[in-house]
Amino acid sequence: MKKGKLIYEGKAKKVYETENPDLLIQEFKDDATAFDATKRGTIREKGVCNNKISAQLFKLLESKGIPTHLVELLSDREMLVKRLDIVPVEVTIRNIVAGGMAKLLGLDEGIELKVPVLEFHYKSDALHDPLINEYHIFALDLAQEKEIKAITQYSFEINGILQKFFDHVGLKLVDFKLEFGRHKDKILLGDEISPDTCRLWDKDTNKKLDKDRFRRDLGNIEEAYQEVAKRVLS
Ligand code: UDP
Repeated sequence: MKKGKLIYEGKAKKVYETENPDLLIQEFKDDATAFDATKRGTIREKGVCNNKISAQLFKLLESKGIPTHLVELLSDREMLVKRLDIVPVEVTIRNIVAGGMAKLLGLDEGIELKVPVLEFHYKSDALHDPLINEYHIFALDLAQEKEIKAITQYSFEINGILQKFFDHVGLKLVDFKLEFGRHKDKILLGDEISPDTCRLWDKDTNKKLDKDRFRRDLGNIEEAYQEVAKRVLS
């Protein structure tokens, strides 16, 4: 599949058209940004790790009945995906308190939640992806009720599948972000699932093996991505 026109360049990925109008190529970069791109850097080989980790996790999810945009892995940094009309609502699922939830509610990181927490955030860099609820979504027509129902159900199912998978490879799934899109009247999981979009802690030591090492200048960033790739792809 040949790369056509570049149609989007984000913080961590480039998206290209292909000769098939329904298919796109996602190319994963080594660039990293945090805090609304006020912090910028490069994490060597991050793109390769995230591409392979994401493809592996999407394949796992597909095998368990979750429809995703993944068609196939093309190369070290590229995957072929279906073109989606992205729903402008990001889903966050949390199993353990960290990051934004610790800050919002004045909680210590590491508290295990009695039940997973699902949050919706309006997808807007300019507004820093603000927390919203279903009333905002329907009032502003960001998605239909049946779409949010599917997105919610898939998100909790994905959490269960991924928690179990990561547990097998010695990782705690603290929290993660998902994006969904519309494709021929169906909702599909899009974007990526990687240490850029998940918090992953080592099960025995609680060592952070995700983008927080970059956000918080914890060092050994490349090693953390390599370690997750090694465990996920083993
Ligand atoms: N996340 C993401 N993209 C975003 C915001 C958050 O992938 O624009 C991920 C983040 O890596 C974490 C989870 O979503 O795994 C929850 O992030 P949180 O809301 O705590 O925000 P953060 O602390 O990252 O600002």
